[in-house]
Amino acid sequence: MDSNFFHTLRKLLEKLPGIGPRQANRFLWAMLDFSEDEQKDLARAIAELPNHLRRCTTCWRAFSVKTNAGEGKVCSFCLPAEASAKAGWANSKRERNKIMVIEKDNDILNIERSGAYSGLYHVLGGMIDPLDENPIVRERIKKLYERMGKNQSKCEVILALSPTKTGEFTSNYIAKVLEPLAPKITRLARGLSTGVELEYADEMTLRHALDNRK
Ligand SMILES: [Zn+2]
Repeated sequence: MDSNFFHTLRKLLEKLPGIGPRQANRFLWAMLDFSEDEQKDLARAIAELPNHLRRCTTCWRAFSVKTNAGEGKVCSFCLPAEASAKAGWANSKRERNKIMVIEKDNDILNIERSGAYSGLYHVLGGMIDPLDENPIVRERIKKLYERMGKNQSKCEVILALSPTKTGEFTSNYIAKVLEPLAPKITRLARGLSTGVELEYADEMTLRHALDNRK
C-alpha cells in the first residue's frame, strides 16, 4: 500500500511545472515536516480551489468565481457585454474580433499590465513539445478551431507565444490547424529577443511587439 501511496503523491507533484522526481521528493519531505494543522489546511485549500478559481470554458483563462454571471463557467472577458455589465464586471468593452493565443496565465497578466491590448485570449496551458507531450495543449488548440469555426472566423488570431523553439513550433502548428478557416493570423514582431519568455518581457517591448505584429 505504501509504495502505491508515495507513487501516486509523487506523480501528482510532478504535474507541477518544472518539478521532476527529485523536487517531488523534496516537496514530500517538506510536507512531512508541516504541522498536522498545516497538512490539513493544504489539503483543504486544494479541495476548495474550484470554488474560488476556475478556468473559463471559452478561453481557458483562470478567473476568480465571485459572482454567478456566466454560471461560473465563462470569464468576464468572454461574457457578452450586457451580461458582463449587469454583473458589474468591468470588462464589457473587450474587442471581440481579436483572439490572442498565449501559453499561460502569467502572460495575460503581463500583457494586461502593458495596457496595449483589449481583445480576447486563448490560453494553451503549455506548448507542443514532441519530447514531452501535454494532451491539454492539443485539446485546447482543437477548442480554438471550434471557437473560430462557430462565429469568430472573421477574427484576427494573434499568435503571442514566446520566441523559443517550442514557441515557434507551436505557432506553426496552430497556423496549420486553422488554415481551413482562413482567419487573419498575425504574430508578435521581433522586438522580443529570441529565447526570452513572454512572461518576462517588459512593457515597452511588449507594446512594440504588439503594435508591429504581422
Ligand atoms: Zn474567457
